[in-house]
Amino acid sequence: MSLDGAVERRKETQAGTGNGNGVVTASVPSYVTHRLRLNPNTDHKPDSYEDLQLEFSPLLFSSLERYLPPTLLNVARESKVQYMREILLRYSPEGERTRVQKHREYRQKIISNYQPLHRELYTMHADNFFVPSFREAVRENTEESFRSIMTEPSPGVFAFEMLQPHFCGLLLSEVENFEKWVHETKFRIMRPNTMNKHGAVLDDFGLETMLDKLMEDFVRPLSKAFFPEVGGSTLDTHHGFVVEYGMDRDVDLGFHVDDSEVTLNVCLGKQFSGGELFFRGIRCEKHVNTETQSEEIFDYSHVPGRAILHRGRHRHGARATTSGHRINLLLWCRSSVFRELRKYQKDFSGWCGECLREKKERQRQSVAATKMELLKREGEAPKEAAKEAAS
Ligand SMILES: [Zn+2]
Repeated sequence: MSLDGAVERRKETQAGTGNGNGVVTASVPSYVTHRLRLNPNTDHKPDSYEDLQLEFSPLLFSSLERYLPPTLLNVARESKVQYMREILLRYSPEGERTRVQKHREYRQKIISNYQPLHRELYTMHADNFFVPSFREAVRENTEESFRSIMTEPSPGVFAFEMLQPHFCGLLLSEVENFEKWVHETKFRIMRPNTMNKHGAVLDDFGLETMLDKLMEDFVRPLSKAFFPEVGGSTLDTHHGFVVEYGMDRDVDLGFHVDDSEVTLNVCLGKQFSGGELFFRGIRCEKHVNTETQSEEIFDYSHVPGRAILHRGRHRHGARATTSGHRINLLLWCRSSVFRELRKYQKDFSGWCGECLREKKERQRQSVAATKMELLKREGEAPKEAAKEAAS
């Protein structure tokens, strides 16, 4: 596993946003005038779109609403939907929408045939899922309360106790049960992404609603506090899956970035050795293959029940799981607003290590140039003065 090698962008194998719903009209009027504002109106309380049959997630509409031009904020909900839909349709090309629709059908086929083993996993029960310290910190919902249960062993990587052992056990056995079903029925399932050959997409067999809650009520408050500059407060879609490592599974995972703004990675078990994560700095698209600075090197060892939270653009990989069997729950959280706005931006010095380094270097050079200029003038000044004195 070479760290000098190119970083792979770890993509899903399918359009997993899974928010397609209903028929998409063929003719799309090209409203080039439809644009979002760069900064949201944070005082504005967006409408709820939950009751509408839309081809994009209702959450997405609510989070986009704050970015509408001021004149549109208080118009009828239908007009806002239309305006935002135009933008979203432009943002997701037709081929993509067809894939989303196909994926929805694939998912429906699984859900109507697969019999869940532990129904209690399919709706959010915070008291049964999370350890008390985590629940309490999120309930308080302040940066201070989050910090009180977390460590930040390297800038931008947060580690904390999250899941109850009982919940980990139930989820593991549910995944096992699903894989048994896949094996018995010879159902061809899609793997979580282009890099993992083992593992399963939890959203595909009924856990989407529960994981949406996990993102909305638990990951988003944390991300709002720690990752606001990459859309942490506007996370609106997710991709939830488990990955399995071991000698008879995937062994390790190459150096990559996630297709997410914020990634939650929780170890579910079981017994294993090895499998450490290695982190190598946060990078924007343009700088994804640039050198690692020594202060960016960080290695993390998994502990069952413990979670880590980091930006999707934080380059990382997993070392070989040398014995036993390791299963992790991954939640890739995305912000459509951030993805739309990112298109108009060039400088990511707020979070990209290399953009920041370049910016500092430009500043250093500009300071040096100014100093030179001043010295030169100072050098000239006495002469001028001398000339004047002589005259
Ligand atoms: Zn950059």
